[in-house]
Amino acid sequence: MNIESHEAGHVPPKPRAALKVCGDCNLCCKVYDIDDLGKKAGHMCQHTGHVKGCGVWGLHPQICQDFKCLWLKHDDLNALWRPDIAGFVLRLDPNGTTLNIDVDHGRPNAWRVEPYYKQIKLWSEVFPTKGLVLIHSTDGLWVVTPTEDLNISNPKRGDTLETGMEDSLFGPRPFVRVIPQKKAPTRRRA
Ligand code: SF4
Ligand code: SF4
Repeated sequence: MNIESHEAGHVPPKPRAALKVCGDCNLCCKVYDIDDLGKKAGHMCQHTGHVKGCGVWGLHPQICQDFKCLWLKHDDLNALWRPDIAGFVLRLDPNGTTLNIDVDHGRPNAWRVEPYYKQIKLWSEVFPTKGLVLIHSTDGLWVVTPTEDLNISNPKRGDTLETGMEDSLFGPRPFVRVIPQKKAPTRRRA
């Protein structure tokens, strides 16, 4: 699977299956801050219907109307990757260079479970030259690299991440540094 190349237009995306719909999933109604509703990440939206779905459909905020996770958009992510089953939501940054994995607050280790972890590591081999694979979980922000998963405990919105390789006693190792928003010469959202 190569999500990034699909998004960048290098490989024509397969048409979305007509029946690929959210179904019983509503994880994106839980894992994100929604400022228009005063809703904090980790809390299910108050408008979630009794049988899931949106209780204010048609009047729901624009940000909700615009959101489609990668599972919904990509046919090559099978049913195992539906966010409520996997335990996380996949999304790309608008520039298509960072793969974000937003983990269910109730299942913080979901991304470490197979078959997910193996595939996430494979994605990290594709992304380093073009972007990042980031895990947003309750135990902080993880930058996944092919050899190590690097943890940042308290990133702030708007901080920039600088990543690369540096020398160590054990040879070259990946590093990640947080550049606070004010000092960042260029921007890449954490
Ligand atoms: S996370 Fe994806 S599949 Fe689940 S409700 Fe949101 S858009 Fe639909
Ligand atoms: S308003 Fe509807 S779509 Fe938006 S988070 Fe709430 S339940 Fe989900």
